[in-house]
Amino acid sequence: MAVTETQVVLLRDSKGGEAEACLQLTRFEPRERLQRAVRMLGICWGLALAAVFVPIVHFILVPGFLVAGVVMAIRRYRQPTEPNGLHGQCPGCQRAVVLRLEAGETLPQWKYCPECNAGLQLLPARIQGTE
Ligand SMILES: [Zn+2]
Repeated sequence: MAVTETQVVLLRDSKGGEAEACLQLTRFEPRERLQRAVRMLGICWGLALAAVFVPIVHFILVPGFLVAGVVMAIRRYRQPTEPNGLHGQCPGCQRAVVLRLEAGETLPQWKYCPECNAGLQLLPARIQGTE
């Protein structure tokens, strides 16, 4: 069963201001990772099957979806966690912010504050002690 974890991360703006934030992750067990990979493979191969009936374009779409299905399924299987979102306080404008992270994004990472549009660097919290 997927487990939701919370990880402390560091938000740093371009002026050197820092603030801690909470990153929520969903951690998948090996069986769930396999199920997610098989589901992705099924979706892509289903699209490949549907593309067979589209004239001319099927010469590109069918092999494209077949290869993309395998590649995306392998990427899904190798992904042990998926970020849900990041909650924290912007070090620039001091307002509470919620940042969305895409499935494959890992730290360190640059994002923009949705409130003041300042660039924010997301760092793992353990780097805080080394600098
Ligand atoms: Zn801000």
